[in-house]
Amino acid sequence: MTQGETSADSATQSLRHLANYFHERPVTGPDGHSYISNQPRATNTHPGLPVNVRVLERIDQTVAEVVAYTREVNPNAGQPPEDVRDVYRWCVENTAHAPEVDQQRREILEYQHSLEHAVAAGETDVIRPHRCPECRTFGLMWDNYRRVIRCTNRECVDTHGLGTIVDFNRLAQQYIAEKRKLRQVSAT
Ligand SMILES: [Zn+2]
Repeated sequence: MTQGETSADSATQSLRHLANYFHERPVTGPDGHSYISNQPRATNTHPGLPVNVRVLERIDQTVAEVVAYTREVNPNAGQPPEDVRDVYRWCVENTAHAPEVDQQRREILEYQHSLEHAVAAGETDVIRPHRCPECRTFGLMWDNYRRVIRCTNRECVDTHGLGTIVDFNRLAQQYIAEKRKLRQVSAT
């Protein structure tokens, strides 16, 4: 993420990336496809499908989370946009005047999604620049085999001696909290 870019921009970008990815590899279902559909997915009939279904499920889940957050914070928010790529813009527009604490939640959600999307798209380098919330070192990496964020510091273990696993939400919370602190310092 470059400086000055908001997490909403970044989340939108990566969601677009995933949505485009899907468009380039369309799934041919019996009745077409809708991103926000609750209909069961077409069953796997050709080899390309599993990845598409994963991408689709991720997009569905992301959109559902953004919509749920928006409706909770602003019950008067209108219908979410048809195009999944507009969903973050819609969310920001409908929650721009919400209390600080809710806006912070939105930033966390957006940043979490931007990390999740980047990793899903194979850009696992996005994890490394974050400090481990437990040991504060830059030892985090994406474990592609277990599909988790793992701390590589050998001394960073729990009481059972197991290495630290960090979820996306915790990483996003830490990042946004630190970013907000910096913003406050530079504002005073
Ligand atoms: Zn650690």
